[in-house]
This record gives sequence, C-alpha cells and structure tokens, in this order.
Amino acid sequence: MVRDGGSGDVPRCSIVPPYVLEALAQAGDARLARAGHQTILLTAELAERRLLLLERGERHLADERRVVYDAVHGRELPGTLLRREGGPACADASANAAYEHAGQTFSFFERVFGRSSIDGRGMRLLSSVHYGQHYDNAFWDGTEMVYGDGDGVVLGDFTRALDVIAHELTHGLTESTANLTYSGQSGALNESVSDVFGSLVKQWVHGQRAEEADWLIGDRLLVDTKFGRALRSLAAPGTAYNSIFMGGKDPQPAHMRDYQHMRADDGGVHVNSGIPNHAFYLLAVDLGGHAWERAGAIWFGALTGAARPHTSFAEFASETVHVAEKQFGDEVRKHVQHAWQRVGVSA
Ligand SMILES: [Zn+2]
Repeated sequence: MVRDGGSGDVPRCSIVPPYVLEALAQAGDARLARAGHQTILLTAELAERRLLLLERGERHLADERRVVYDAVHGRELPGTLLRREGGPACADASANAAYEHAGQTFSFFERVFGRSSIDGRGMRLLSSVHYGQHYDNAFWDGTEMVYGDGDGVVLGDFTRALDVIAHELTHGLTESTANLTYSGQSGALNESVSDVFGSLVKQWVHGQRAEEADWLIGDRLLVDTKFGRALRSLAAPGTAYNSIFMGGKDPQPAHMRDYQHMRADDGGVHVNSGIPNHAFYLLAVDLGGHAWERAGAIWFGALTGAARPHTSFAEFASETVHVAEKQFGDEVRKHVQHAWQRVGVSA
C-alpha cells in the first residue's frame, strides 16, 4: 500500500471529510470540540493500524457473511463479539443496524452484479460499533468497517445510515479491484464510486427509480435539518449543507471548470468527487428506471474492469463509454458520452 501526499489527519476512506471535522471542532460548542479532538486524536493511530493490517494481508475468509463487534467506546479493534451471521438480534441497536446494512450491501452486489462480497470470494464483512468516545466518523480500514456514535449534536450514530455503510464497503470493493490511489483525480473517483454505489444500494433496497431517489449521501447522519440535508448530493453537488458547524457551504463542484486544486483532503478527494458523481446522476436520470440496471452496471464494469490506480476522470469516462457500447449498444453509449460532456469531461 503506497501512501502518497495528503494531510494524514484522517484515516483513509472515512465518510466525513477532514475540513468538516475541523469545522465541527471549532464551532464553539464544548461537546463538539471534545468529539472533534477525540476524532482527530484517534485517527493517527488508525492510519498506522491500517498499514500494519494491510501488510499482514488479513482477509478473514469464512462461510459467514457478517460479524459485529463492540469496541465499547475504546480503541481496541475489533472489540467484543456482539452478533454473528444467523444469530438473533442483540440488545444493541447500533450492532443490529450495522448487521442489517452490511447484509443489504452484500446482497446488492451479489444479486445485481453477481459479485460475492467485496473481494469476489465471499470475504466476511466485519464491523465494529461504538468506536471511541463521540467518534465523528465511519471508515473502512482495509479489513473491516468501524463506526463511531457521532457527537450527538450535529452528527448522530453512523450505523443508522445505509448509504454510509454501503459507501464504506464500496471502498473495500475498489481496493480489491481498480485500487484507485487515494489522491487527486483517482482519489476523487475512489470517493465518487463509493457515493454512487452507496446511493444505489439505498435505491435498490427501497425499490426506487432514478427519478424518485433523493441522491443524497448521509442524510440520516445529520441530527437536525438546520445543519443541512446531507453530507453530499449527487443531484446538486455544492448544495448538501450550508452551516458554520460544517465549515460553511458544501464545497463540491459539479463541473470541471470548478475543479478544486488543493492540498488538503488528499487533493480534494471529497470535493472533486462531485464532478463524476454528477455525471452518474445525469446519466441515471437520463436513462430512467432503476439506476443500478444500466448506469450502475456500466460504472461497475469500468471499476472492476480497465480502471487502474492512477486512472483520471477522462480515462474512467472513456472506459464507461466502452462498457456501455459493449453491454447496451450505441444508443446508451451516446447517453454516457453526453453525461460526461455536461460535467466538462471529454470521454
Ligand atoms: Zn469515502
């Protein structure tokens, strides 16, 4: 695993971007400040642990799909066993939510794309809930999902949001396929495909058509709508929130002309992901119907096919065009090209 550039302040593949965490810590609320400092403190340790685990190559292969642990507000991972595949629900609501949402994500990739778990070989999905004290994040650490309880003021329990869980597990899928480098354009693509499949899992579970979906990520995370609607919007990047608690306005661009060249956030991976996110949304709504059937299949084909660690927006766009032509023919290919053109990326 090559670590390249970036602030190193936040574990890779976390749902809440570093600029939002900093804003929460500095918003002037004592509880938020405590949660923010805890979150920042624990992240340096996590980055080290992730590297260690990746070197050991732990994969937890087993017949069962899901196991949920309780970190009991500490830093030891995975923690104590709470629930495993086929077992009864436990008394812990977060553990049951993590279990259900991991199962729905597993079923989505299996039934829609015929992929057995994130590695294609039935890899067991491990989750640890109640990580740290008021920990304001959720992340994929290379071996498992880890969830904080949130600060309770702006952000709530991270296990309650299916799209957040599907987003994080998609990071696992990306890592075992294209392995998009978490920096710059390839990093923004990495973030974007997690948002795309995060939203698709939610749409699939609710049986929604593209035009019925909310296209939001993390809407269930926010404690109150006064802080915003969600963390991100694929339909309208840059409009998910506008609050001093979140560091001001949602900074996501929807077009290449507004691409942000920045050092923070690993080169703006949570910012510029708005551009490919919006291309996907435009295509899905343009095609209509269930977004996972065509638009989702095209993105899945590109991600698990020709995409490589340093794939750029334009290269990924070209690959989606090839996949579209091959799987759905000339008419759909034109729609894919048009969607990328509308966000300023030439395929
Ligand atoms: Zn992410």
